[in-house]
Amino acid sequence: MIIVLKPQTRRTDETAVLKEIRRLGYKPHVMRGVSRTVIGAIGDEASQPSLESLRAWPQVESVTPVQKRFKLVSREAHPANSTIRVGKDVVIGGPEVVVMAGPCSVEGEKQLMTTAEAVAKAGAKVLRGGAFKPRTSPYEFQGLGEKGLKLLAKARKATGLAVITELLSEDHVELVAEYADILQIGARNAQNFQLLIAAAKTGLPIMLKRGLSMKIEEWLLAGEYVLANGNRNVLFCERGIRTFETYTRNTLDLSAVPIVKKESHLPVVIDPSQGGGRADLVSAMCKGAVAMGADALLVEVHPNPKEAWSDGAQQLSLEGFARLMEEIRPLVQAVGRQ
Ligand code: PEP
Ligand code: MN
Repeated sequence: MIIVLKPQTRRTDETAVLKEIRRLGYKPHVMRGVSRTVIGAIGDEASQPSLESLRAWPQVESVTPVQKRFKLVSREAHPANSTIRVGKDVVIGGPEVVVMAGPCSVEGEKQLMTTAEAVAKAGAKVLRGGAFKPRTSPYEFQGLGEKGLKLLAKARKATGLAVITELLSEDHVELVAEYADILQIGARNAQNFQLLIAAAKTGLPIMLKRGLSMKIEEWLLAGEYVLANGNRNVLFCERGIRTFETYTRNTLDLSAVPIVKKESHLPVVIDPSQGGGRADLVSAMCKGAVAMGADALLVEVHPNPKEAWSDGAQQLSLEGFARLMEEIRPLVQAVGRQ
């Protein structure tokens, strides 16, 4: 910790701070400037009381941690990129930009099978589809539940696609883990730490969406919960954050891609569908994401977006998705990926 004292702090007040640092088990190193004194406190913050309490002392201007608060997700802990194996033969975080696509919600067999076949044909590797839906209103479609999971498993069998679906509650961990190849933790649950721990314990890859108003550090720390509970298979998914802008549903923060890739060894996914809330923006956002180094894309696709039971305005048609895959190909090659 670096403790900065206020200008013109009296020597007796400085001594009191040094005494407190020693009492808490740290070794202080004093640097006296012209008007200000800076104290470096050395010690293991994980196994000792925190020095944060010094913030309440009137002679203290600031207390700043030296170490990052996240450890296992950090690049320092693992300098090389981590790759996450999904199902039998999909690898996220390697040379391939993996596309995950499918409807916002599983609505029925025909809708899901048609979509799964079309996205597989166009080159997607993972089928997305919500069976448990986190809807803002309790009067909106809440998902088909287990019936939806069974349909996802059927679509996986028919197409060979791996399956990603949202885990909404601790009560459903076993059920959803039985059907999913990747557990999606949604934006609204991104800091539901008990859910993260329960999900971690399944050992399945976890795609952790960024919360609606979540700072990148908080998002990384949420991922840290998964790694700290024995599961290193985490994907960070940026899906837009809340801002004042109303042209888009959310503001897709593409800067999160290089930031998270710099801070962490884990793969980054971009969800342009929740990100903008508009089908007409999806292609541009995907291109931007690939150019900025995203490892995977999560795209909502529906056979008839106009009749979708959720998120119709942002879902691509089957033809729209096939076109998207063609449009991003040159970009993927330009950045040296597959
Ligand atoms: C979704 O992927 O359909 C979804 C509900 O996502 P988010 O949690 O990002 O809102
Ligand atoms: Mn959706």
